[in-house]
Amino acid sequence: LAQLFRPLDLLGMVYRTIRQGLIDMTAMFDLIDTAAEVVDAPGALPLAVTAGAVRFDDVHFGYDADREILKGISFAIPPGGTLAVVGPSGAGKSTLARLLYRFYDPTAGRILIDGQDISAVTQASLRAAIGIVPQDTVLFNDTIGYNIAYGRAGADQAAVEQAAAGAAIADFITSLPDGYAARVGERGLKLSGGEKQRVAIARTLLKNPPLLILDEATSALDSRTEAEIQATLKTVERGRTTVVIAHRLSTIADADEIIVLDTGRIVERGTHASLLRQAGLYAEMWQRQQAEAETVPA
Ligand code: ATP
Repeated sequence: LAQLFRPLDLLGMVYRTIRQGLIDMTAMFDLIDTAAEVVDAPGALPLAVTAGAVRFDDVHFGYDADREILKGISFAIPPGGTLAVVGPSGAGKSTLARLLYRFYDPTAGRILIDGQDISAVTQASLRAAIGIVPQDTVLFNDTIGYNIAYGRAGADQAAVEQAAAGAAIADFITSLPDGYAARVGERGLKLSGGEKQRVAIARTLLKNPPLLILDEATSALDSRTEAEIQATLKTVERGRTTVVIAHRLSTIADADEIIVLDTGRIVERGTHASLLRQAGLYAEMWQRQQAEAETVPA
């Protein structure tokens, strides 16, 4: 009997892995119409995250051979550090994150995690090491508990509740008549943008990855919710090497390094303070956002 079940188990595992992978990717990268292009190298070993150092080494990439999107990107994030990526729409910010998740391989250059080229390790181990808090969280037509537990297969109720508390959504859930059994999604409760983000944060806390990609939502939440989510994210970032794709510069003022991308090149880099002193594109974006903030009532 065991013999009979083994292939089924395997099939189940493959299915869950694919589903998990697809949901993570589509949630952030909207790639349903793009075939996955990377395969594990023969004899690929699992990634061993020891400290969590991330390095891009002169990375070039284009979706099409005749149009380069990233034109020589280099940076190093120290273990536990935060790199913020900013720049105009279409600059290549999401593309950079997709390469770190190895949805595509660079056409030239290398991406290293703790010295290991990510194209040489298994994709499963790479993706297990990276948590993504996407712009838009995909919810299943299931219970809110299930939607959180999805962050880690086999998580028990206590772990789910702990993650919900860490994401500051536990009080909201316990106030629901059905609590963790409340159904969400199309056929259930409609969650607000902020609540959905908290579900994504809770999933990430359950997954407990050493590396994090935060894709800040472009559609603004109200400023109080925004500030509360930011505060929660700061605690999630602690101790994890983080790449933030940022649209609101006020959220990344304390990043270890900020890179300003423009048409696939790093045109400015530094800390918030040093970038303001450079009085270039970043300073201009900052001033524009400050002016907007003053005209929008909080
Ligand atoms: P935004 O702030 O608007 O999200 P971005 O800086 O994240 O922009 P990317 O999404 O990385 O920009 O896109 C960079 C360029 O790559 C754009 O010109 C875009 O049209 C192109 N691009 C993105 N995804 C694909 C794809 N799957 N196939 C072909 N071209 C793509």
